[in-house]
Amino acid sequence: MRINRRQFSAGLLAAAGVVGMPGVLRAQAKPRVVVIGGGPGGATVAKYVARDSQGAVEVTMIEPLETFVTCFHSNLYLGDMRSFESICHGYKLGSYGVKHVRQFAAAIDRDKKEVKLADGSAVPYDRLVMAPGIDIKFDSVPGYSEAAAEIMPHGWKPGAQTKLVKKQLDALQDGATIVMVAPPNPYRCPPGPYERVSVMAKVLKAKGHTRSKIIVLDPKDKFSKMALFQECWQKHYPGMVEWMDPKMHGGIKGVDPQAMTVTTDFETIKADMVNVIPAQMAGKIAREAGLVNETGYCPIDATNMKSAIDPNIYVLGDASIAGAMPKSAFAANSQAKVVANAVRGELTGSRTFPARYANTCWSVVAQDDTVKIGGRYEPKDGKIAEIEGFVSKTGEDAGIRLQTSEENMGWYAGITADIFS
Ligand SMILES: Cc1cc2nc3c(=O)[nH]c(=O)nc-3n(C[C@H](O)[C@H](O)[C@H](O)COP(=O)(O)OP(=O)(O)OC[C@H]3O[C@@H](n4cnc5c(N)ncnc54)[C@H](O)[C@@H]3O)c2cc1C
Repeated sequence: MRINRRQFSAGLLAAAGVVGMPGVLRAQAKPRVVVIGGGPGGATVAKYVARDSQGAVEVTMIEPLETFVTCFHSNLYLGDMRSFESICHGYKLGSYGVKHVRQFAAAIDRDKKEVKLADGSAVPYDRLVMAPGIDIKFDSVPGYSEAAAEIMPHGWKPGAQTKLVKKQLDALQDGATIVMVAPPNPYRCPPGPYERVSVMAKVLKAKGHTRSKIIVLDPKDKFSKMALFQECWQKHYPGMVEWMDPKMHGGIKGVDPQAMTVTTDFETIKADMVNVIPAQMAGKIAREAGLVNETGYCPIDATNMKSAIDPNIYVLGDASIAGAMPKSAFAANSQAKVVANAVRGELTGSRTFPARYANTCWSVVAQDDTVKIGGRYEPKDGKIAEIEGFVSKTGEDAGIRLQTSEENMGWYAGITADIFS
């Protein structure tokens, strides 16, 4: 009896124990994983799937950038603690077999399982991993727009916006007023705005600008590491930072970039620099593919970061609704390891492990003075829940803060090596 190739392959798979294994793909030479986004989420998944499958999975990462600028530690650049070059990273993932397509993903055809690129070509997938990060909701602050961001930068996406914040900060004279419009929850990097306030104050203090002021108009009545930040502002920059919650400003009514004013329910503040950090949502490609819910972010299965809307797609990082985990690079990198394990399991039958997630967010409040918050997370009742957490204490001695500062620098070196090379 002759057996054809299909029967032969089926026999081999049966011998290998994979026939009947749910979700294991057969019938094609190599299963294809396509990753959209080369940030901490996407690049880490691409690397780990390619590296650990040792050529058994074809991995394509779609990311227009050749060099990724990290938002994380961009505040250290603003605070003269890092050069801009030191937060720029080229991709060195080719050695693992990751194919980097330097284009924008224009659309996803979920029925055909393919990604349409900006040049009109299509990239087919067996599993798609989405990590496009966030988009700014410009219209969440009346008077603000993409054009207004050239005058009143948000600096919440890396690169040109970060440089503009730095340029404006460095040009200020003593006696200047900076107004920050802080974002509502949920947004990228919960302690980030307050770390930024701290490093801006550090720059002003170093220049002897004792008459300058930073006014923070917050739509929230509390924020991450609030007691720690407020203690540090008092200690390092007394009288310089004025934080106002909605009870104090009555509501943020809008900005006028031409007049350089910010209006609240109670007053119109004339500023020399305005940093508007609006509300945020999942990146456009995820929204247009119908992967978001009413929150503007993507619901996922807490056990593996699979989209709750499409079983062939995983979503991680800032674009996802990751329960108790904040939107951070640490979190995206941690979720990426869970996704890589789950994707390989589905496509090659490799062993999968229960999801375990972790996060730490360090914030620089002054030179050699850094605080942190973090935790471990696991799936619980359909959500990613915090299992244990920790936070720096107020009143800690300088030695601990110096050690935490060194940890922060070590973390950055380690995570960027893990993501990009
Ligand atoms: C000021 C500031 C300070 C921060 N500090 C810290 C910190 O200290 N620690 C920390 O852990 N986190 C920090 N963060 C948060 C951190 O930067 C983000 O959480 C992290 O970058 C999210 O990773 P991501 O992979 O989900 O998305 P991103 O980093 O945004 O990456 C998404 C990528 O997808 C690409 N992309 C988007 N759409 C498409 C498309 N259609 N086609 C192809 N590619 C696409 C983009 O070009 C981008 O490169 C900070 C953020 C800010 C703003």
